[in-house]
Amino acid sequence: MDIDSIRSQFPILSQNVYGKPLVYFDNAATTQKPQCVIDSLCRYYTTLNSNIHRGAHYLAAQATDEYEQTRQLVQKFINARHSHEIVFTRGTTESINLVASSFGERFVGKGDEIIVSAMEHHSNIVPWQLVCERKGARLRIIPFSDEGVLDLEALETLFNERTRIVAVNHVSNTLGTVNPIGEIIQMSHKHNVPVLIDGAQAISHRQVDVQALGCDFYCFSGHKMYGPMGVGIMYGREELLEQLPPYQGGGEMIKDVTFERTTYNELPFKFEAGTPSVGDVIGLHSAIGFMQQIGIDRIATYEKELTDYATEQMHTIDSLRIFGTAPEKTSVISFLIGNAHPYDTGTLLDKLGIAVRTGHHCTQPIMDRFGIPGTVRASFAIYNTPAEIDILIAAIKKIAPILL
Ligand code: PMP
Repeated sequence: MDIDSIRSQFPILSQNVYGKPLVYFDNAATTQKPQCVIDSLCRYYTTLNSNIHRGAHYLAAQATDEYEQTRQLVQKFINARHSHEIVFTRGTTESINLVASSFGERFVGKGDEIIVSAMEHHSNIVPWQLVCERKGARLRIIPFSDEGVLDLEALETLFNERTRIVAVNHVSNTLGTVNPIGEIIQMSHKHNVPVLIDGAQAISHRQVDVQALGCDFYCFSGHKMYGPMGVGIMYGREELLEQLPPYQGGGEMIKDVTFERTTYNELPFKFEAGTPSVGDVIGLHSAIGFMQQIGIDRIATYEKELTDYATEQMHTIDSLRIFGTAPEKTSVISFLIGNAHPYDTGTLLDKLGIAVRTGHHCTQPIMDRFGIPGTVRASFAIYNTPAEIDILIAAIKKIAPILL
């Protein structure tokens, strides 16, 4: 694969920070955007900007067309049965809040239970806690091992007649674990319990086929898959979406409004109140095109090579501990140097031009599980190189004596 040519499509990567070439290893937080996505946003605001669906004029028709074409592309990308099962949101967080709120309203009652895992991002914990507070329900937690592998035997024991939904991530943003969601979905369905998958950290690293998986909801963000910020997806199975009440009220989500009674629009518009991020949705079309041109399997293979190389190199540093050593991982490595505070490590790496993330990564229960304040997280994308990993390793070797 010609990584130089892929890199050259990302103008942001060619800059220096603090006089050093930028090494961008914060891809799990957000990926950088290729020129085709930047051009698409520019083209939208230069030639297309218009509010969609309602306008009788040329620009509105064109913008609507491209917006709906993106919906169809997303449908194909994740192999959904219908394009109206694809709902545009602002991101994974809004997608999960939508499901938690609407599903919770319709299906969760006093004494009911919702299962999440101990390795969820806060956005797949707090929305469910809000439902529990509102409805008098409670959360049940799937534990994980020291390696960062979910305990499916423990999950089996959590099901009972009060279980209403299981919500788990496909890939952990902190540990990198690829969870066996196929098995989790099968197990849950055996108990007649639907499953929401938080796919924020999987969608740019793995082929996702929602029909093959059989999941009921699958949520992800555009900005973690080379697309713009401000757009996300909530995929839901038609039969379930039909039964859920709207999340927000406003324009576009209605059929008829009177002061006595309002009827709601059909799917997916029932869940898309107000003016969406039209330009960002159209930009997402280009981002998916970018990924498809390379091929998701080739992206996964290359990222695995990078991750294996980085892991191997890190093992040569005695004071370095890696958190998350599951057999199947994506390109996320969480680590600590001795007992140094992750923030100090991150700050020193930053001064050497290396962008990593530090802290609890919105997964405080994981930090509690390991009894640590946080980690340093390096996460790789298709444009990263082994040479950049060498820079990271050299930098860690340089700063370790200062930190220890
Ligand atoms: N879930 C996971 C696993 C994530 O990594 C993130 C982003 N860090 C989110 C949910 C939330 O995504 P967003 O901020 O794009 O809504």
